[in-house]
Amino acid sequence: MSFFQNWRCTNCGNEYELDEVHYLCPQCSKKWIGGEPLIGVLEALFDYPAIKQEWDKQPYPGLFSVLEEKFYPSLPVGNTPLFRPERLNKNLNLPNLFIKNDALNPSGSLKDRASQLVVADAIRLGIDKIVCASTGNAASSLASICAAAGKEAIIFVPKSIPEAKLIQIKVHKAKLYTVSGTYDDAFNSALAYSANNDCLNRNTAFNPLTIEGKKSAGIEIFLQLNDVPDWIIIPVGDGVILGGIYKAFKDLKSAGIIEKLPKLLSVQAESSDAITSYWETGSYHNANHPYTIADSISVKTPANAHWAVNALYQTQGKSVRVSDEEILSDQKYLAQMTGIFAEPSSAAVFSGLKKALTQKWIKPEDKIVLLITGTGLKDINAVRL
Ligand SMILES: *Cc1c(COP(=O)(O)O)cnc(C)c1O
Ligand SMILES: [Zn+2]
Repeated sequence: MSFFQNWRCTNCGNEYELDEVHYLCPQCSKKWIGGEPLIGVLEALFDYPAIKQEWDKQPYPGLFSVLEEKFYPSLPVGNTPLFRPERLNKNLNLPNLFIKNDALNPSGSLKDRASQLVVADAIRLGIDKIVCASTGNAASSLASICAAAGKEAIIFVPKSIPEAKLIQIKVHKAKLYTVSGTYDDAFNSALAYSANNDCLNRNTAFNPLTIEGKKSAGIEIFLQLNDVPDWIIIPVGDGVILGGIYKAFKDLKSAGIIEKLPKLLSVQAESSDAITSYWETGSYHNANHPYTIADSISVKTPANAHWAVNALYQTQGKSVRVSDEEILSDQKYLAQMTGIFAEPSSAAVFSGLKKALTQKWIKPEDKIVLLITGTGLKDINAVRL
């Protein structure tokens, strides 16, 4: 059973039925020019009173899913552990700090949540091919989940992607196109491909199921804590994880399950800070030179920038920049203090936490969740020992 009702355009508010549109709002996307954040990203609306009734009998994240779970590929995704890293808590004197370890997904990153839902849609619609642009993890994730479902993954990535992510794409036998240029160029190539071929497009935020898929991490955090945390710290590239976590708590609130929203702390690499400067100034500019060791958050034009900044405003969240040096040193610190080897983009959340403590945005007694989004084994060459 699904309690999905309609898609609603986050720009103009128009509503659409499930299969009336699959990507952006047809009206607003006419105004979208390449090289800018997407306009007309869709959000899912649900029958919230009906969800609440079921939730009170037995709560689980699937109640907030756009698609019936019978369409999901058989490979399990999500349900990742949330725990108190005791040595870290003692060392930093942060008694209520938790880690949500989403590196424990099948392909080693949170991206599997989005891929799961998009592949479920392909199963539902009887579509055999799914195309995707990626800095690496979305691609390795789509390749893995397509393999489980017997679908063909078609991948556009920049040349610079870490070797392990490339191997993942190849081992699952996805069709690979390496684009000369950046992730942003790969994004456009994947759009052109799906415009001319019979397939689904999994580009992040462009396909609203990516946001809805990543949402399940937020619902799980609430269920595992049995509480709304004060802060959730999230690494931000395109702003889809941030948007998805926000949507989780917004949906829980709409269903009358919670009253307050958690504050969201967005963490970006210094060079890849378009959402941070948008949040600071209220006006949008591309990141000039988005090169960072944290490849998964290296984005010039964040696809979901408008939604992400709105999520920060609505939750009274904040956004910080962290340097590659901080990330690399915190990657080691986290590994040595918690046992978790996170990829640089994920280790960045710890650098962000330190900044927010220094600024006194986050208080030591706050209930804090660090979202670890990807495993360090994906990019061993980044590590500085
Ligand atoms: C994709 C990714 C991010 C950033 O997510 P966005 O939705 O692009 O903001 C962070 N960490 C990891 C490991 C990722 O793969
Ligand atoms: Zn619209």
